[in-house]
Amino acid sequence: MHYFVPRRCSASSKIMYHDQTSARRAAEESRVQRGVELWVYRCELCGTWHLTSRAPGSEGYASKSTASKPRSRKRGYKPRRR
Ligand SMILES: [Zn+2]
Repeated sequence: MHYFVPRRCSASSKIMYHDQTSARRAAEESRVQRGVELWVYRCELCGTWHLTSRAPGSEGYASKSTASKPRSRKRGYKPRRR
């Protein structure tokens, strides 16, 4: 196995992934090896994919579309405020 040298986003200084697949793979590796759950999202500033440790709180995240078990919004899992 060879290691590729990751480039980093100039805006967020996060590692850049060229496609969602490799980003998700890295996220999975992190969860398996370190027990850290990461989320994949597309950076609007550089156009590549990044990982974040914060769960996406807003809709429209790309990681949702390819998740193994799609969760629909109609379930309303997010507790309503007020
Ligand atoms: Zn970026």
